[in-house]
Amino acid sequence: MIKIKTKEEIEIMRESALIVSKTLGMLATEVKPGVSTLYLDKLAEEFIRSEGAIPGFLGLYDFPNTLCMSPNSQVVHGIPNKKPLIEGDIISIDCGSKKNGFYGDHAYTFAVGEILPETKKLLDVTRESLYVGIREFKAGNRVGDVGFAIQNFTEKHGYGVVRELVGHGLGREMHEDPEMPNYGKRGRGKKFTEGMVVAIEPMTNLGTHKIRQHSDGWTITTLDNKPSAHFEHDVAIINGKPELLSTFKYVHEALGVVTNEEDEFRAVL
Ligand code: MG
Ligand code: MG
Repeated sequence: MIKIKTKEEIEIMRESALIVSKTLGMLATEVKPGVSTLYLDKLAEEFIRSEGAIPGFLGLYDFPNTLCMSPNSQVVHGIPNKKPLIEGDIISIDCGSKKNGFYGDHAYTFAVGEILPETKKLLDVTRESLYVGIREFKAGNRVGDVGFAIQNFTEKHGYGVVRELVGHGLGREMHEDPEMPNYGKRGRGKKFTEGMVVAIEPMTNLGTHKIRQHSDGWTITTLDNKPSAHFEHDVAIINGKPELLSTFKYVHEALGVVTNEEDEFRAVL
């Protein structure tokens, strides 16, 4: 069942989303060759707690850490470890928080130093596909409209759209209805209405869409071992339109990226 949020609840969720947004912004300048994902995980945990929140993933389904850290061919759900990142890696960081009973859930794929042009393009296209999907998350549209838009855009570039892992409703639970696949058919699935809040999160592979799960029960890797990217925003329907609760503004300020891609999804004040 889809749990519709009141305006007050959405304002509380905005705070949780802002905390994960700031956490990724803080990490943006820490992601560099020689740094371990476990070190970044500890920084994130300290930061989230300093904001009066608790890490959203720690202990959720028994996940052992604050961040899901998925380098290179890992798609999502990677467990932080002591292995240092090296120049040319990419690292997908997924971050959850919980404050005042509501979750934030946010992901960004970072370049570690200089990366290959084909990998940079994968990151740019996946991030752009996120906004292509968000544009369809509006009252009257359906789940399939978002999935179709993301899949259509992504596959034009020859990339693989992961099928087994999907976005989701967000609220007092990390994973609520509806499931939000990054593939689908126009006009299919549950209808969007005012007050819905979801996490939209394309997971895009440079090669095949197929994946495999590791024996640790968590880590997911592309079947052909080519890189995979993951970007995620928390979005609410307000006045019939998609409005971002999370923001990459802190990441982009830290990295010197100039873009107006979020402007159309901001509150009109
Ligand atoms: Mg996430
Ligand atoms: Mg999510």
